[in-house]
Amino acid sequence: MVVSPIFIPLCRKKQFVNFTGYSAARLARLLWEQEVVGSNPTTPTYLSFLDKCTIFGTSGMDKMSFKKPLIIDIEGNSYNDGPGIRSVVFFKGCPMDCFWCQNPESKKIAPELWWDQNKCIDCGDCIEVCPEGAISTDNPFYIDRYLCTLCWECVEVCPSKAMTRKGLEMSVEEIVEKVVKYKPFFDRSGGGVTLSGGEPTLFVEFTSALLKRFKKEGIHTLLETAGLFDVEPFESRILPFVDIIYYDIKFIDPMEHKRYCGVTNDRILDNFILLHNKLQSGHVELLPRTPLIPGITDSEKNIHELTEFYTRHQVQKAVLLTNNPVWIQKLEKIGQKATFDDIDPIRKFYDDEKKNEIKDYFFKQGLEMIFG
Ligand code: SF4
Ligand code: SF4
Repeated sequence: MVVSPIFIPLCRKKQFVNFTGYSAARLARLLWEQEVVGSNPTTPTYLSFLDKCTIFGTSGMDKMSFKKPLIIDIEGNSYNDGPGIRSVVFFKGCPMDCFWCQNPESKKIAPELWWDQNKCIDCGDCIEVCPEGAISTDNPFYIDRYLCTLCWECVEVCPSKAMTRKGLEMSVEEIVEKVVKYKPFFDRSGGGVTLSGGEPTLFVEFTSALLKRFKKEGIHTLLETAGLFDVEPFESRILPFVDIIYYDIKFIDPMEHKRYCGVTNDRILDNFILLHNKLQSGHVELLPRTPLIPGITDSEKNIHELTEFYTRHQVQKAVLLTNNPVWIQKLEKIGQKATFDDIDPIRKFYDDEKKNEIKDYFFKQGLEMIFG
C-alpha cells in the first residue's frame, strides 16, 4: 500500500494506529472519521476528501498480489451461504470499505485483537499480563490500541475467550481437513463449501489451490466476491474450480459506489459483464447480489439503475440481501466506534413492506429476485 503524504501529519498526531494492512479505501475512511468527529460517508464533503487522497497517490490492495491469507473463522454448518448445508471459510483482507460491511473484522489484512465484553468475567488476568499496560477498566474501549503490540498474551490467559485473535495462518491442507469432515452433510443436503470474507480473490494462488483441493474431494464450491479483481488470473486460476459465484453489485452509479465503498465500480461492472457473457452457456452459476441498506442502496435511483443494468445485459435472476444490523456490535469489539446516531435506519432490520415493494418492482421489469 502506498500511504499518501496527506496521512503523515495525521499519523504523527498519534490519533490513529495499526493501520498497516488496511486498504487505501479503508484508511481514507478512518482518517476522515478522525478529522471530522462523528462523521460518516453520508457527509457531502467526504467525497471531495476521498478525491484528494486519490490525487496524493493512494493505491488499492486490489492492485497487489498477496500470497497467503489469514483466516478469521471456519463456520461448520451454515444454512445461509448458498445451497444446502455449507462450511464457510472467512478470509481476512478486503480492497473495499463498504460502510455496512457485515464482517468489519475482515477488512484489515493483518490480525486484530477482538474483545467481547459479553463474555468477559472481569477476572483481570489480561490486565495483569499485558506487557504494555494497554488494558484498563478506565478506558471505555478497554484496550488502548495505540499501546497494544499484538503480542497475544492476553488471549493466552483469558479464561472465558473474551479476548481472541482474529486472523490465523492456516495452510490449504489444514483448511481442507477442517471442512472435509462435514462432507456427508454436504452430500445429503446438496451443500458444500463457501469461500467468503473479506475478499478471497486477493489471494489468487492460495484460493486457486484451495478450490482445487475441494474439487478433488468432490466438494461443491461457492465463491463470494465483491468483483474487484484482475479478470485474467481470475479466469485462469479460480474459475475452473468454482460451481457458483455470488457477485456483489452494490451501486451502478460510480460516485455513489466510491462514497460508500471507498472505490469506484467500473472494474466491478466490467468484470461482471465479461463473466456473465462467458458463463451464459456454461456450468458455473453467476448470481449478482445487492444488499438493501436503508437510505443508501435502496434509493429509487439505485433500484431503477440496477433493473436497467440487469435488463440491458439479460440477467434474469439476482439476489437481494436485507440489512442486518448485527455487524454494528462488532465494531466495538475491534476498537472502532459507529459513526451514525442511535436512530439511524441502518441500525434496524429491513422493513418487510419495503422489501416486497422492491421485489415487485424488479418483477414488473421481468427479473426474478430472491432474498438471500
Ligand atoms: S495483545 Fe498484548 S499488548 Fe495487546 S492488549 Fe493483549 S497483552 Fe496487551
Ligand atoms: S482475561 Fe478475559 S475474562 Fe478476564 S478480564 Fe480479561 S477479557 Fe475479561
